[in-house]
Amino acid sequence: MTPDPFLAAPLADPLAAPEPGRLRRAGAIMGAAGRSLFDLVLPPVCMACRQPVAVADALCARCWSRLTLIDKPYCARLGIPFSYDLGEGALSAEAIADPPPFDRARAAAVFDDVARDVVHGFKYRDHTEHVRLMARLMARAGQELLDDADVIVPVPLHRWRLWRRRFNQAALLGAEISRLTGVAFDPLILHRIRATQHQVGLTGSERDRNVRGAFRVTPDRRPAIADRRVLLIDDVLTSGATVKASTRALLRGGAQSVDVLVFARVVGKETGII
Ligand SMILES: [Zn+2]
Repeated sequence: MTPDPFLAAPLADPLAAPEPGRLRRAGAIMGAAGRSLFDLVLPPVCMACRQPVAVADALCARCWSRLTLIDKPYCARLGIPFSYDLGEGALSAEAIADPPPFDRARAAAVFDDVARDVVHGFKYRDHTEHVRLMARLMARAGQELLDDADVIVPVPLHRWRLWRRRFNQAALLGAEISRLTGVAFDPLILHRIRATQHQVGLTGSERDRNVRGAFRVTPDRRPAIADRRVLLIDDVLTSGATVKASTRALLRGGAQSVDVLVFARVVGKETGII
């Protein structure tokens, strides 16, 4: 059987596995026809606070009002929101002082309480159904980047972490954004050549050191990015160390340019909290 690039383990028989995460994944596979029957078993809940809601894959009104979506004005390079409009193409102090290797980064939301609950449910509690709303918001926030992109590439997990988590959250997001927009998706272009320590609790420079040289373009996939404009996908952007290291690997591997699209980014005082 060809290994599924998103799932490290095959899906279990949903009827034999009464565990909520797996049941929800099974529900995702059943599609719209099976959704209403499925909802009788597991009524839809808010993706952040887990309170009952009317429709699946949604936030309740209270959580939705507390989710901080990022809209213009923002830094043309890093996508950091500005409190007032500095004009088209304005750059943040961070982008001027320390220009990143990628061209542009965009995020759908600020990584605050609601976004954190959505991401952690997705990543650590197997709520892979969150991918649908997250990808829709990312496609909206990254529309300009998607218009220019030739191929979507997810930030890869090391195979040991993929085996433990069973899926790569960035690959699920990339596949769904590809499905929504028609931009090509290739999860096998970039891989992580060494396991890295969790970035949680590390300072910015420690994060840079931790992921430096950790990524490489798979040699036989080089033609797939040669002179192509790559859109790199991840779930959260904190210090940027991971996407910078991934971008450098893609550019060394022959990509023409790299943009970055994430679901949520840390802004201002929150830097370094995950
Ligand atoms: Zn809620």
